[in-house]
Amino acid sequence: MIIVKTKEEIELMRQSALVVSKTLGMLATEVKEGVTTMQLDKLAEDFIRAQGALPGFLGLYDCPSTLLCSVNEAVVHGLPTDKPLQNGDIVSIDCGALMNGFYGDHAYTFEIGDVNPETKKLIEVTKESLYVGIRAFKAGNRVGDVGFAIQQHCEAQGYGVVRELVGHGLGRKMHEDPEMPNYGRRGRGKKFVEGMVVAIEPMINGGTHRVKQLKDGWTIVTQDGKPSVHFEHDIALVDGKPEILSTFAYVHKALGITSNEEDEFRKEALVL
Ligand code: MG
Ligand code: MG
Repeated sequence: MIIVKTKEEIELMRQSALVVSKTLGMLATEVKEGVTTMQLDKLAEDFIRAQGALPGFLGLYDCPSTLLCSVNEAVVHGLPTDKPLQNGDIVSIDCGALMNGFYGDHAYTFEIGDVNPETKKLIEVTKESLYVGIRAFKAGNRVGDVGFAIQQHCEAQGYGVVRELVGHGLGRKMHEDPEMPNYGRRGRGKKFVEGMVVAIEPMINGGTHRVKQLKDGWTIVTQDGKPSVHFEHDIALVDGKPEILSTFAYVHKALGITSNEEDEFRKEALVL
């Protein structure tokens, strides 16, 4: 059952989304060669608590960490380790926070040093597909329309769309209805309704869509060892249109990236 949110609840969810957005922004300058994902995890936990929020993943489904850090061929759910990041790595950092009873859930794939052009292209196309998906999250459309849009965009480049893991409704629970697959058929699935909030999160592989789980019981990796990329935004359906509650603006500012990619999904300009 889809749990729709009131205007007031959406404002609270915007605050939760802002916590995770700022956390990724803080991490953006810390993600570099020689740093371990365990160190990033500690920084993130302290930062989230300092904002009066709780880490959203820690303890959820027995998750042992604040962040999930998926390096290179890891798709999602990578547990932080003491292995230093190396030049040329990519790391997808997924971050959750709980504030005022509502969750924020947000992910960004960072580059460490000189990443090869093939992987850079995968990052670019996956990020594009996030917005292609968000654009399809509108009144009159259905779950399958978002999945279809993301799948078309990524498969056109020969990439693999992960099937086993999907986006989701978001609210007082981290995972609410509906499931939001990154693949699908036009006009199929649940119809979008005003006031619903979802996490759209393409998980896109450089090669096959097939994945496997590591023995740690968490980390999902590509079956062919090719890299995988993950971006995630939190979006509310307001006045029949998608409104992004999270923002990469803090990450972009930290990394010196100029971007207007979120502008069409925001009613008011964001002031950092
Ligand atoms: Mg997430
Ligand atoms: Mg999510």
